[in-house]
Amino acid sequence: MSVSFQPENLKYRPSYWVCQCVGWELEQRYSQAALDQLGELEKRELAEAANAECRYCKGTGVEEIPEPDGPFINWCNANAEALLAAMGRPADDLCGALSVPEARRMVMRGRNRGSVSAFTRADECGDRFYSMGLGEDDIQARLATFGEFVEECAAYGAEEIVYG
Ligand SMILES: [Zn+2]
Repeated sequence: MSVSFQPENLKYRPSYWVCQCVGWELEQRYSQAALDQLGELEKRELAEAANAECRYCKGTGVEEIPEPDGPFINWCNANAEALLAAMGRPADDLCGALSVPEARRMVMRGRNRGSVSAFTRADECGDRFYSMGLGEDDIQARLATFGEFVEECAAYGAEEIVYG
């Protein structure tokens, strides 16, 4: 389970991978190849080795996977929750949207906050516990990463950062 943060206008580009269904030997041989520029012979070799029913490569031996072509952060739920809490954002619902100015303020708030008590919360039984597995240094490092990410989103032309 993880949470992705990205600019609302994020574009994707295709990346190409040798599909595992072609078998280990071909997978190794083509692992460094420019798979979007294969010749006809190579395409045929991969297609013949591929499983015609494969849902990943659809029998071509080459899988196309969209990759973010811009700023992108993916954190496990626990880390995302700890970071949002550190920045003063209720993280009950791990999805939402932030304007770029709002995100900048949140980073400032996270850097300037006082204590780790911000991370404690009541569980269903009313007891308090630490929900985060990050130390203060980790929190500060991630706040710095998130701050850079916010500026990259602004430079990318985004008005909002969406997460979920
Ligand atoms: Zn396949």
